[in-house]
Amino acid sequence: MIKKIKDYKLENVYKKIINGERITVSEAKEIYNCPDPKVIGYLAHLVRKKLHSNITTYVLNQHINYTNICVNRCKFCAFSREKDQDGAFELTISQIKRKIEENINEPIREIHIVGGCHPHFGLDYYVDMIKELKRLRPNATLKCFTAVEIHHIAKISNLSVKDVLIKLKHAGLDMMPGGGAEIFDSEIRRKICPEKISGEKWLEIIETAHSLGIKTNCTMLFGHIESVEHRIHHLDKLRRLQDKTNGFICFIPLPFLTKNSRLKIKNEISGIEKLKTIALARIMLDNIPHIKSYWIMLGLKLAQAALYFGANDFDGTVVEEKIGHMAGATSPNVLARKELEDMITGCGFKPVQRDGLFRFVSQ
Ligand code: SF4
Repeated sequence: MIKKIKDYKLENVYKKIINGERITVSEAKEIYNCPDPKVIGYLAHLVRKKLHSNITTYVLNQHINYTNICVNRCKFCAFSREKDQDGAFELTISQIKRKIEENINEPIREIHIVGGCHPHFGLDYYVDMIKELKRLRPNATLKCFTAVEIHHIAKISNLSVKDVLIKLKHAGLDMMPGGGAEIFDSEIRRKICPEKISGEKWLEIIETAHSLGIKTNCTMLFGHIESVEHRIHHLDKLRRLQDKTNGFICFIPLPFLTKNSRLKIKNEISGIEKLKTIALARIMLDNIPHIKSYWIMLGLKLAQAALYFGANDFDGTVVEEKIGHMAGATSPNVLARKELEDMITGCGFKPVQRDGLFRFVSQ
């Protein structure tokens, strides 16, 4: 591999990676343009091994979507509906409670809750939800509401983002998921999600959350109309914010699924391009500890391959997933703990259970 690195004139970035130095935006482009994807995978794997050795983490988690009614209607989103449209749903707190109770005998350590920007739900709905979840699942990390939802809750409740976050944290919110980041570039955003908050606003809300001690994840939706440069600039913005706040725990690369989207593109990007993008994220995000291989969006086989392209986390059992599956994901809806562990060991890694904040769980 060293010979190939030399052949492709990547010795300089190789040395920087070995020495733990930051890769610049222009070097990131050089890496991505390397014609041999194995070289990119190798470089990302060096970083992954240095940070996490042979460990691949997973979590026993449950996803709940409380509504898909959304005022935004982003073009790429196959999940959202108008209020009276076929397939629209909204859950009461009692219905959410029942979903938790149905799985109460499972030792779940993370509850992941996201939904649409509902036109009528006020802050009380979200506070009551968090309080009830905390009561039912005191040992699980409550990872709820993206920056986009927080902005919407603040707007509809006539409060500042900061006040909403303080109230939710007080009710029991532990951390926030990383959704809604999409691609930060304003021109791309105008085409794929014109009504959604800007990239700058997303970063500002996350910075506020971090300043209040609320850790978050972060994401990037890629493989639609954006260029590789847009991806690289997106990753650069994430690592710049992380330099300031150190509040990101995990980056989740989300490949765009074309099947049920109103945003029409000719071809879904190749599996290799997905792997290269994950690898590039691992190389660039030198200050974000974890990279997730999200099997729901990648599919099980590619998610396993991603463990050799920089990813060190395999997400979790999930229980019920709607967003990716409404977009056309063909992955299963749920995985048993044994299946997760077998998939990780089958790739040559050691599975270790974590909670939502990536703290190891002793078994
Ligand atoms: S991506 Fe989120 S904000 Fe956009 S339409 Fe879908 S649910 Fe609403």
